[in-house]
Amino acid sequence: MNTLRLTVFDIEKDRENLIKAAEILKSGGLVGIPTETVYGLAANTFDEEAVSNIFKAKGRPQDNPLIVHVSDMEMVKELVSELPEKAKLCAEKFWPGPFTMVLPRGDKVPKSVSAGLDTVAVRMPSNLVARELIKVSGLPLAAPSANLSGSPSPTTADHVLFDLDGKIDAVIVSDKCDVGLESTVISLCCEPPRLLRPGGVTLEQLQEMLPDIVVDKAVLAQPEKGKPVASPGMKYKHYSPKARVIMLDGEFEDFKNYVADHTDDGTFALVFEGEEQELSVPCVSFGHKDDELEQAAVLFDALRELDSCGCKVCYARVPQKSGVGLAVYNRLIRAAAFEVVTL
Ligand code: AMP
Ligand code: MG
Repeated sequence: MNTLRLTVFDIEKDRENLIKAAEILKSGGLVGIPTETVYGLAANTFDEEAVSNIFKAKGRPQDNPLIVHVSDMEMVKELVSELPEKAKLCAEKFWPGPFTMVLPRGDKVPKSVSAGLDTVAVRMPSNLVARELIKVSGLPLAAPSANLSGSPSPTTADHVLFDLDGKIDAVIVSDKCDVGLESTVISLCCEPPRLLRPGGVTLEQLQEMLPDIVVDKAVLAQPEKGKPVASPGMKYKHYSPKARVIMLDGEFEDFKNYVADHTDDGTFALVFEGEEQELSVPCVSFGHKDDELEQAAVLFDALRELDSCGCKVCYARVPQKSGVGLAVYNRLIRAAAFEVVTL
């Protein structure tokens, strides 16, 4: 299959391509779409065959559910069996935006979208191209990240093509994703509400709306083998470059000394901007130390760059865990398969 490249930077000027993408989705095809979080691989939520093709193209485990993307609240009502009061309040506050709510699944949503669960994850993206595409197609779009399962999520159309060229019908070529990390996921199907995955909407912001929200253990630590997890995606090794990533938790001086003592062929360091000159190994940087928004925006690009440079082992600096930093930490520790050395 040839993957069609459809340029849409402006939803008015590039309308023709937007309509083409909508037609492909309506006829059961798969389209890589920009969102403010990462690029998504979209299909018609109500088309079981198209949904199953998402899993095939990505090599995604069948038990890892998808997020359904909507353009308005009417669409949400089609997807859920009940819209709790808390969900309405959160929607008003955080939508459109990088925020997903797990809600009771309505009968119209195929079980395969939710990997057999009685719940469905729903998000309204703020990216204009994504929202207009949903509107024009008239379809809620089931869309996980548009990467091969396990590899770093894509933040550009080129990343999508690197992983999925020839396996999907089309990709929309558009601006780079603003946030750069997947959405915040909370469950409102339990009491108290639970943070399943940190993202662009921060825990601190959520606590203002939902003071009793709890953070699922799997956000910061490795889920126990064989035990059920609240968000199936959390149990997989994720976001990983081919290189082995090891996080070194400590001061920069200790980081430098540790790397110097453990340098071999193919050793790299993943450091904060400006630290590169002080290391004796090749470096890739992922934003300034105190700028977690910048770290989020460039992290996946940095992980992909490590592979393209032939990195074998990469020692990584540890980001702060506050604000969006919690999401950066959550992705990096998964890229490192939870390998952390305390200095
Ligand atoms: P991705 O589409 O790659 O951003 O992955 C979607 C994430 O949302 C995964 O981590 C899933 O485990 C999580 N998710 C989606 N649907 C549900 C659900 N019904 N219950 C819990 N977690 C979900
Ligand atoms: Mg993903």
